[in-house]
Amino acid sequence: MTTSDDLTGLGIAAIRDGVRSGAFSGREVADAFVAAVEKGRPLNAFLVETPDHAIAAGEEADRARTQGELRPLSGVPLGIKDLFCTRGVETTAASGILKGFVPPYESHITGRLFGAGAGMLGKLNMDQFAMGSSNETSAFGNVLSPWRRNDGGNAPLAPGGSSGGSSAAVAARMAPGATGTDTGGSIRQPAAFTGITGIKPTYGRCSRWGVIAFASSLDQAGPMARDVTDCAILLEQMAGFDPRDATSLDLPVPAWEMGLSGDLTGKRIGIPDEYRMDGMPAEIEALWQRGIGWARDAGAEIVEVSLPHTRYALPTYYIIAPAEASSNLARYDGVRYGLRDLAEGANLQQMYAATRADGFGAEVRRRIMIGTYVLSAGYYDAYFTKAQKVRALIVRDFEEAWARCDLLLTPTAPSAAFALGEKSADPLAMYLNDVFTVPSSLAGLPAMSVPGGLDAQGLPLGLQIIGRALDEQGVLNAGLAIEQRAGFVARPEAWW
Ligand code: GLN
Repeated sequence: MTTSDDLTGLGIAAIRDGVRSGAFSGREVADAFVAAVEKGRPLNAFLVETPDHAIAAGEEADRARTQGELRPLSGVPLGIKDLFCTRGVETTAASGILKGFVPPYESHITGRLFGAGAGMLGKLNMDQFAMGSSNETSAFGNVLSPWRRNDGGNAPLAPGGSSGGSSAAVAARMAPGATGTDTGGSIRQPAAFTGITGIKPTYGRCSRWGVIAFASSLDQAGPMARDVTDCAILLEQMAGFDPRDATSLDLPVPAWEMGLSGDLTGKRIGIPDEYRMDGMPAEIEALWQRGIGWARDAGAEIVEVSLPHTRYALPTYYIIAPAEASSNLARYDGVRYGLRDLAEGANLQQMYAATRADGFGAEVRRRIMIGTYVLSAGYYDAYFTKAQKVRALIVRDFEEAWARCDLLLTPTAPSAAFALGEKSADPLAMYLNDVFTVPSSLAGLPAMSVPGGLDAQGLPLGLQIIGRALDEQGVLNAGLAIEQRAGFVARPEAWW
């Protein structure tokens, strides 16, 4: 008999295999994580807890085992980012404007995960409409990172964003895995900040149907978990063609878990010079060098490459993403979903204005204003068309790099987790966090963050691997090679 504390120490592969072998029951696993979610409430990672869902899935796994009907994720409880619509469970994207919205439908991805036997522990807090890098834009209070600096100061740290509820829940052992979404880095940066692993697959791998839209040409869902194998297991269940998403790729889903290998013999790994930023902490550069050494040790050949338009990626992203967001968010009109501010005697225009001013947070309003401006008749060519042209150049940079290498290795973020409040007054400082993650988002490429080590303050740092379109296997394998050599076992000491 395993104690519940041991069970929350297990990852997805170990839970799946243990339920299958009968080492413990699905019900015991669900109970252990439900208790961990309750205990973890001070972190504010969950907006809604759904213990009944997780427990029912655990019991169903136990029934399925006796009948020989186990499915790929039987007995695995997960946290679900609140950007995924879940039938019958309030879904707000952490925004006041969606307060009280209970979707009558299930997102494609959560439907697939539950169909594969997974249970849901609850809906995870996030930056409002996935706009942010620290979780501070949530209308329901920020998530606290389970990590603290080793200086004894106990400054509350950002868990990263926008998938900060997901990263905190996995890092704090409240869930063995979670869904995330990544528009410009929202899976990879929070994974790096909390010492976990996350992969954004190729654009089109995971259906966006039922995922609340931020910037449709960039949004991609992906898994966040404790290690590369667990990410491969989850991604296999999340990916796949969905005719309801016009950008969904009609391609078979490879057996990524089976294909895992940390042997990089014959692979060329590119090191892009332009990712060496002025003012980047020496510890990030040192981590990058260690990563290069690990890749070489795994058999890869290291080559220097150039991605000359990298410096334009951030401004390009912060035109295209707000432009698409301003259009996507036009639907929140006080009529169709959630909040409605209707003052006595107000007309329709006044109702729209009051609802949107009240329901959207400051960062969301900022993005809508920027997006509306860059799409306006007088400025469309100067900003939006120009940004689309630069996006094409960024795509071309990667294509040219693939002539010289198979994968790219970079740091995930230019710093370790920062303190809450440290950057929230300066949007440009906040946007700088995405400098290494945004280019591959603009190009729609698969990219992953794996923990590489701790900085001098005892905080996790991540390494990013970027691959060719559809080469999730190559990305996962390089991630595994690094994971095997980094030996990252640190975890936050529970203070909650
Ligand atoms: N931090 C970036 C932003 O604020 C990325 C967010 C995301 O990937 N959803 O837009």
